[in-house]
Amino acid sequence: MHAITRTGWVEVITGSMFSGKTEELLRRLRRSEIAGQSVAVYKPSVDDRYGETTIGTHNGRQWEATVVDNEGKGPLEILQADPEAEVVAIDEANFFSEALVEVCNTLADRGTRVIVSGTDQTFRGEPFDPVPQLIATAEYVDKLRAICSQCGEPATRNQRLIEGDPAHVDDPTILVGAEESYEARCRACHVLRTGDEGRHGSRTDINRGENGGEDGGEDENENRNSKETEDGSGNDTPTDESARTSTNS
Ligand SMILES: [Zn+2]
Repeated sequence: MHAITRTGWVEVITGSMFSGKTEELLRRLRRSEIAGQSVAVYKPSVDDRYGETTIGTHNGRQWEATVVDNEGKGPLEILQADPEAEVVAIDEANFFSEALVEVCNTLADRGTRVIVSGTDQTFRGEPFDPVPQLIATAEYVDKLRAICSQCGEPATRNQRLIEGDPAHVDDPTILVGAEESYEARCRACHVLRTGDEGRHGSRTDINRGENGGEDGGEDENENRNSKETEDGSGNDTPTDESARTSTNS
């Protein structure tokens, strides 16, 4: 997909959950490995709750990954982790702070091929930082689509369900450990519950920037869950995906 060159670049693989992003990421890594290139893979520490050191897809494919602190300046450690790597892959980009943008650009400037995967939308259908920033600075962007679980049309949105019901628009963007599930849905089938309850008009929580804390607070956690699920090619919920990955590893 790229002409022969000595320079580095950034590739973004994005789309909704269940669109096969991680599967595509692994496909590219396998090709690099076959060519004898050195590869380094990173994933956000939010995944630690699964006790994993691999990234995986619903079909069972996986790759060894180094867990990185995804908050604040944490992503910068990627710059020192494996300077010799010719190819650096980062999964679940949506769980990282905006420092990831600097990381990817710095690596590319060094001559590294950077492959980043992550969902581009929150459960509200709004931009999920820092993926939009990564897209803007990348040389290559592939936006994958899942299949709408409701109507079968191409799906680009992450439908969050809590006990089977659509999540409220004022829910935190990221919920950690919450009992929730996700479906890929098209624009027409995507549903957001609205109402007086919750925090109105303060949806800035969507952007993790607001939560400066370690884990970014509840908001960030929710987003992360959504994003993680995306990598799979199947229609599993984030929880399912993680469970599978664990099994695989
Ligand atoms: Zn639909």
